[in-house]
Amino acid sequence: MVGIHEFRDFQRQVRLYNRKCFWPKLDSTIVIISSIVLTYLFKRFKAIIVIGVMLMYEEHVLKVIINSKYLVAFTGAGISAESGIPTFRGKDGLWSKYDPTKLASPWGFQENPKLVWEWYKWRMSMIMNAKPNPAHYTLALLEKMHILKSIITQNIDGLHQKAGSLNVIEIHGNIWKVKCTVCNYRSRLIEPPESVPPHCPKCGAILRPDVVWFGEPLPEDEWSRAIGEASRCDVMLVIGTSGVVMPAALIPNIAKSKGAIIVEINPETTPISEIADIKVPEPAGVFFSKIKSLLRTFQ
Ligand SMILES: [Zn+2]
Repeated sequence: MVGIHEFRDFQRQVRLYNRKCFWPKLDSTIVIISSIVLTYLFKRFKAIIVIGVMLMYEEHVLKVIINSKYLVAFTGAGISAESGIPTFRGKDGLWSKYDPTKLASPWGFQENPKLVWEWYKWRMSMIMNAKPNPAHYTLALLEKMHILKSIITQNIDGLHQKAGSLNVIEIHGNIWKVKCTVCNYRSRLIEPPESVPPHCPKCGAILRPDVVWFGEPLPEDEWSRAIGEASRCDVMLVIGTSGVVMPAALIPNIAKSKGAIIVEINPETTPISEIADIKVPEPAGVFFSKIKSLLRTFQ
């Protein structure tokens, strides 16, 4: 005979067994149903979800910009690519077609100054006709709004100044500046020289572009100002730079080491991506035209 206690114990065992079996079944059912619903929602509303996330993204970056106490931008060739000026690195970069040791080095210039000047003349004509893009204009606007304090640029094209930026630190020089290879003569061109190489009006020696070539040190004043700005900023926008040219690539690292928030705007992954707090994987012009529209609400 089975006593009442044994029977109740049996009933408890059955309930426990059923519960054990029931929950795993329910768990897997929930997972399957949730996956079906989420897959449907994503397929149906993918665009809306993506746009929603992107809007949140831009607003987030804008908040970081607006709330910054000392905002500095560090720019490279990528910011001017949308203005039609080719970049140097990457598969379509200039250095994949031309030899930098012949065209952008002191020994290349010494060997064939005419060839180097032909190359600079070609680039001057291209830069002369180039117009700043929304990224350049938005940075100029941020400076006018007293949010952006300075731009440290590796570019020699002068497009930041063309867009209206005033505090621009050109660590690699400027394509329109020339200096004598012998005396201390320096000048600024307004158009490409008619005959190359041009000569110094003071001593007759050959003039050279006042830009930094491979193997040359950076201009002392500009470099120390750039380090100062990188050390001082609390937010740094790193825009369109490959992050491999030394010592320029140290700039974001200096800012990071001093506690700044690094926002990288670049469709490519670079060494800077590793230290970036926010990564915007878009071309600068595309991203900043959206930031500019959002900025209107703050003006
Ligand atoms: Zn001279």
